[in-house]
Amino acid sequence: MLKYWTSILVAAISFLGFSQEVNYKLKMERPQTHYFQVEMTVNDLKKDEVIVKMPVWSPGSYLVREFSKHLDQVKAVDGKGNPLEVKKISKNAWRVKKSKSANFTVKYEVYAFELTVRTSFLDLTHGFVSGPSVFMYVDGLKDKSGNLEVQPYKGFSKVTTALPRAAEGVASDGSRFYTYKDYDQLVDCPIEIGNQIEFDFDAAGVKHHVGIYGAGNFSVADLKKDMARIVEAATEVFRQNPNKDYTFIIHNVTNGQGGLEHVNSTTLSVNRFTFSGSDYKKFLSLVAHEYFHLWNVKRIRPVQLGPFDYDNENYTSLLWVMEGFTSYYDELLLLRAGYYTKEEYLRKLFSSLNYVEGSPGARVQPLAHASFDAWIKAYRPNENSRNTTISYYSKGSVIAAMLDAKIITKYKGKKSLDDFMQHIYSEYFVKKDRGFSEDEFKQELEDFLKEDLDEFYAKYINGTEIPDYKTIFAAVGLTVEYVGKPEPSVGVSLRESGGKVTVSGIRRGSSAEDGGLSVNDEIIGCNGLRADKRSLESLFNSVDVGNELELLIARDQELYSITIGVSTYEKPKFSYELSNDKKTQKLSDFWLRTTSK
Ligand SMILES: [Zn+2]
Repeated sequence: MLKYWTSILVAAISFLGFSQEVNYKLKMERPQTHYFQVEMTVNDLKKDEVIVKMPVWSPGSYLVREFSKHLDQVKAVDGKGNPLEVKKISKNAWRVKKSKSANFTVKYEVYAFELTVRTSFLDLTHGFVSGPSVFMYVDGLKDKSGNLEVQPYKGFSKVTTALPRAAEGVASDGSRFYTYKDYDQLVDCPIEIGNQIEFDFDAAGVKHHVGIYGAGNFSVADLKKDMARIVEAATEVFRQNPNKDYTFIIHNVTNGQGGLEHVNSTTLSVNRFTFSGSDYKKFLSLVAHEYFHLWNVKRIRPVQLGPFDYDNENYTSLLWVMEGFTSYYDELLLLRAGYYTKEEYLRKLFSSLNYVEGSPGARVQPLAHASFDAWIKAYRPNENSRNTTISYYSKGSVIAAMLDAKIITKYKGKKSLDDFMQHIYSEYFVKKDRGFSEDEFKQELEDFLKEDLDEFYAKYINGTEIPDYKTIFAAVGLTVEYVGKPEPSVGVSLRESGGKVTVSGIRRGSSAEDGGLSVNDEIIGCNGLRADKRSLESLFNSVDVGNELELLIARDQELYSITIGVSTYEKPKFSYELSNDKKTQKLSDFWLRTTSK
């Protein structure tokens, strides 16, 4: 019966072939080699030559990854199978000289041996396809629709993806057929192929599909219940859920790396033992984060983030909204869904706030710059990053909390940041179906708050000042105090490996920097004693201003004696407490509400 079905489908696909479309075939004949085989067939293209390309990056992960470095054996044939001339013309582009035939197929192999949410992987246990790292596109035809045939390895029985099925069922050789409306959709739907555990749950009127690869301490019954509660809480923010179906691909691994968002799916890479105790809340927070992105960044978005330019960096100064607001909600939703108490939630919020203000980079890099430079800084950290950069996730979440407090104060507990999110979703995604500029976003915020935000932006978004947390949070029932004070400090962080203690970080402006200590210096002795990490750290933490430390160090095998002093450093820090004031308590109850138990 399935064979019969396949021949009907193939006939239908060939028929559709008369209109211009791009069809793909994905094979994995020998998974142990870690190579996928890909064929891209283009119909009805009346041109003498075409350019085919591989993306250089994967949307949602702001780093040029040069996916074409994993491609081998790029070949092309015409509609009759005759070879065509293929010439590589740049790092990620090939020119195909075509004969008169309107149809042609490009064939290539992709080495896939990096299991992260934004790269691809194949071995005898499973395959994972992150579209931009596997599928080429035809220059000028990214808006074309087409089909994808996935031909799983014979040992793999399941395929989990959010791509719409061209037809239900499985062909006799195991192939599944999918459709896509444009290249953006094709590569926005990751594909898990293997023997993963699959289950479904319904929440917020949406059918959710889950595919889990890898052993772990999870319970399907708990995941169904808890993921549904997160979905409901996220949907409540927007009061509508635009998807009919949503797919979670979960990789249980030893070193989980987080998630990547898509329009109607996500891939989560988590530690295989994350599914119990406090680690489970971290997992649920990751679920909340990636799910919230289906609105914020996949639909509510800056103009630069869709449709995408796959050839270059897509610069935006608004990642503090896309990632920061999402980070704010990924914790708030756990409070609303009843997984955090108010106290737990506030501890999380203020741990982010104190992390942000305690980073020397917070006084150097404005939030908007952190976003713009994500490509070369956040995604390419080095030993000096803490001195020069700030996380647009953490600081963006603190700014979101401030804006939420401002909106709640302005509307006396009748509106919150939720209402602003609903507004911008409806104005830009629903009505205009486009992204917004930086100016448009600021204007929307100002209109909503009925307040000029020039100063707010100058100080906290484009500047590096410490916000007036005390006033902003007092209005919503939280007493915030500055508790930073000058303390003796050397300004060194250490790491130990193979019995050696080396310097892993030097704080800018510290006495260690002054004294000439550098990252990677090995500290052999201090004040006449042989050094180990524990004794050095306790010494560094107990010294007084005016003390001097005599260090014996090795730098590239040469020994030096250096003297570093001890100076004072005031690390900005804030304490918080829920106030007893009846007037503001009403607002804090609204802000920190739990909506489901
Ligand atoms: Zn995110």
